[in-house]
Amino acid sequence: MMNDIKGYVFDLDGTIFRGNQLIEGADSTINFLRSIGKKIVFLSNRGNISRQRCKEKLLKVGIEAHTDEIILSSSVAASFLKNAYDQSKVWILGEKDLEDELRLAQVHLAKHPEEADWLLISLHETLTYHDLNHAFKAVASGARIIATNADKYVPTEQGNSIDVAGMIGAIESSTGRRVEIVVGKPSWLMAEAVLNQLGLSAEECLVVGDSMESDIAFGKMFGFKTTLVLTGSTDRAMATGHNYEADFTLESIKELKFLIEEGLR
Ligand SMILES: [Mg+2]
Repeated sequence: MMNDIKGYVFDLDGTIFRGNQLIEGADSTINFLRSIGKKIVFLSNRGNISRQRCKEKLLKVGIEAHTDEIILSSSVAASFLKNAYDQSKVWILGEKDLEDELRLAQVHLAKHPEEADWLLISLHETLTYHDLNHAFKAVASGARIIATNADKYVPTEQGNSIDVAGMIGAIESSTGRRVEIVVGKPSWLMAEAVLNQLGLSAEECLVVGDSMESDIAFGKMFGFKTTLVLTGSTDRAMATGHNYEADFTLESIKELKFLIEEGLR
C-alpha cells in the first residue's frame, strides 16, 4: 500500500525536527521520495514562523523545498483572513514572522487593539504582560478570536514546551470569550490547502506525523492514509486508546524510506 502513495504530507516538529535538530534520516527519506517522483508538502501547526523562514530552516539541514510546498498555520491563517474577511482589521498576539505572512497576504493590520475585528493568537515565545494586555483590550473592545492552532505543547530539545493553548487560555479566561476558529490541524482549512497544493485526492496521500490529535486525527478526518512516528509527542503506549488509529506506526521517518525501498524490490 505504501508504494501506491503519490503524495506525502510531513509534519515538522517531532517528525522532521526536534527543536532545531534534524531527526536522523529525515533528509535522506525526503530526498529519496523526491528521487522517485513523489509529491511532498510540509504541513505544520507552527504559527510563529513564516514559510520563508521554514524554507531556510529546511535548507540548513539539507532538505530543499519550494515555498509552495510549505503549509503553516501562519500562512493558512493569513490566506483565510484575506479571503473570508477582506475588510477586517487584525490584531496579532504572536511573533514577527506571523505578521510577515499577514502582510504578504495583504491582510489589514489594526494599529490599535481597540480597532481590531479579529484577534489572531499564535505561539509567542517572548510573550510579555504588555502583549497579553493588548490582546485582552482587543477582545474587550469586540474583536473575535481566531487561533493559528490550539496545540497544548510542542516537542523541543528540552522535552515538551507550552504551546498556543496556553496563550488562548490566558485570553479566554480573562475575557470570558471563546476562540471561534482554529486554523491548524485537524481543521479543514489545512486539508484544503494540502489538497490544492498536491492536486491529488486525499486517499492518494499519506500524512506522517507524531501527534495523534493533530496528525492522525487530521488524516482520518479527511480521508488520508496515516503514519504515526514515535520521535515526538507520542510513545507507543499513548498511541492506543483513541477511537481511531494510524494505518502505520514507525519508530521514525527513517524507517519510511526502508519500507518504500522494500516495496520497490
Ligand atoms: Mg508534530
